Amino acid sequence: MIREFHGIVLKNIKFSENDRILTVFTKERGKISVMAKNAASKKSKVIAQTSTFSYSYFCLYPGKNFYTLKSADYIKSFPGLQTDLERLSFASYISELVDIFYEDKMEEPITFNLIIYILDLLQKEKLEKLSFITLAFMLKLLGISGIIPDFSGCSICSATNDEYYILDFDSGSILCSKCTMKHFSMNKITSKQLDLINKLTYVNVNDIKNMSFDVFTLEECNNMIVILNNYITYTLHRKTNSFKFLSDMLELK
Ligand SMILES: [Zn+2]
Repeated sequence: MIREFHGIVLKNIKFSENDRILTVFTKERGKISVMAKNAASKKSKVIAQTSTFSYSYFCLYPGKNFYTLKSADYIKSFPGLQTDLERLSFASYISELVDIFYEDKMEEPITFNLIIYILDLLQKEKLEKLSFITLAFMLKLLGISGIIPDFSGCSICSATNDEYYILDFDSGSILCSKCTMKHFSMNKITSKQLDLINKLTYVNVNDIKNMSFDVFTLEECNNMIVILNNYITYTLHRKTNSFKFLSDMLELK
């Protein structure tokens, strides 16, 4: 029986000369694997529809371990992501984050809508805003998954007025300078970065494009992305390959 899905292609891997294995995040069934036979052949009518970041309508045959592609029709493409290396590196990173956050067939419609919205922002918004959009996405994903650290104040003394905090990966909370013996250069978060986190954690994603980030530097935002990426790697025991690409692009330390 043919099954129909609305899905975003997170990954397109070469299986043989013309065949591709897709990782698709669907509205109906969460993350699924799809064997796309002849998808890359010269006669293929689905090359674009099955490429990474395409949002397509898929007709699939269910199988034991993966689905097999019957047809795919475009719903939306994000051409802006393919023509700019910086946009592409952000989009690759958020796609891979979704891939490592979700197991197969875990339905998550909020994440599905979030990815489409964020990919659209990443292809349209000004380059200097992309880091802020990505940080907001990371915080949403952590929130949806229930592993967002508690950034409300020092987890021991509740202080909210310290100049620096550290993010403690084990407890998923922050500690002020008086309450920690840990090496203080590790995962150090300034009070300004904390303001940025609090600003982005509770924002409605639809409002991001109208927000101004002028009071924050790009460096403050990018350093926060590095810390959260390390926290995600530590907590999920999985790491993204595309972060290296992104950090090289942004010259992150
Ligand atoms: Zn404290």
